[in-house]
Amino acid sequence: MAEQQKTGKRKVILVGSGAVGASFAFLLLANNIVHELGIIDTNVQKAEGDVLDLLHSLAFVSPKKVYVADYSDCHDADIAVLTAGAAQKPGQTRIDLVRVNLEIIRENVTNMVKNGFKGIFLVATNPVDVLSYAVWKFSGFPESRVIGSGTILDTARLRQTIARELQIDARNVHAYVLGEHGDSEFVPWSHTYISAFPIMEWIKKYPKLTEKNLNDLFISVRDAAAAIIQRKGATYYGIAAGLVRIIETIFHNENAILPLSVLMNGEYGHKDLFISTPAIINQNGIRQVIEINLTKEEQALMDASANKLKAVIKEVLPS
Ligand code: NAD
Repeated sequence: MAEQQKTGKRKVILVGSGAVGASFAFLLLANNIVHELGIIDTNVQKAEGDVLDLLHSLAFVSPKKVYVADYSDCHDADIAVLTAGAAQKPGQTRIDLVRVNLEIIRENVTNMVKNGFKGIFLVATNPVDVLSYAVWKFSGFPESRVIGSGTILDTARLRQTIARELQIDARNVHAYVLGEHGDSEFVPWSHTYISAFPIMEWIKKYPKLTEKNLNDLFISVRDAAAAIIQRKGATYYGIAAGLVRIIETIFHNENAILPLSVLMNGEYGHKDLFISTPAIINQNGIRQVIEINLTKEEQALMDASANKLKAVIKEVLPS
């Protein structure tokens, strides 16, 4: 935790004020979670416009410092949120973005570290797992202070979709999407619960859904981004809400358990990559990575997802 956070300053630097970044900034301010928000973007006019617009919302929430920042403003920030970079176009996968976004992230992180940033990196730029790994490498920070948003959004989509189908409050749906934030992600159904009931027991007892329906729901969740991008060009509200939730857990020192892209140190038999699993998060960043006991089939899906990410890392970030 940066020193300022202990004194309650709560300063966030956002890098990338595009669709995701601007949506995140608005929600962050509306939720009264931070006292100071600096925005960096190579498109300075866009950052200036967003700052002016955001300032006009403050009279309805509470006073805060919001400004166009540069890297020299990073030295005393608690959290840096990285959303700069190219977004998926219709038909593109997240992995297709890797080369261009890797260079953008390299520039962002190098400049921040050079200017004395000592807080927590929160990465949303895609492909988020590969780029979180890159941020960890480029920064030299301990892994607890590099967090990828990973499958927090996919998990929220899954919980909401199951909740809608079963007509149950999404907060009673305890489910996780694990693996890559992308096409190889999967749901460990053996660890999916409605309240305290395993979902497979629930659907036998109250047959609104079948196992086949569950799989169809997962596919709609996995492909949700493509469906949104096809209709309006980008997805941003869901991830903005996910990023704000992560920041809330940090500033409120919640020790909450969220699905996040974190460094594997032998969990699930894998090392040296970032991939999503539940993790305990608090004011210091990642307190603990939680390894779920997977079935043989689920482990095979995790292996496939991890191996896919390792291959991309090996290609773009050879050690
Ligand atoms: P966007 O094109 O609207 O915004 C990107 C912004 O980054 C632009 O304002 C651009 O000027 C800025 N930028 C580019 N290079 C920069 C640099 N070197 N330094 C600072 N700013 C720079 O894109 P978007 O829709 O906001 O998406 C941003 C990223 O977030 C994409 O990679 C997208 O795939 C990703 N995304 C992630 C999730 C997730 O769940 N993790 C969800 C949606 C989008």
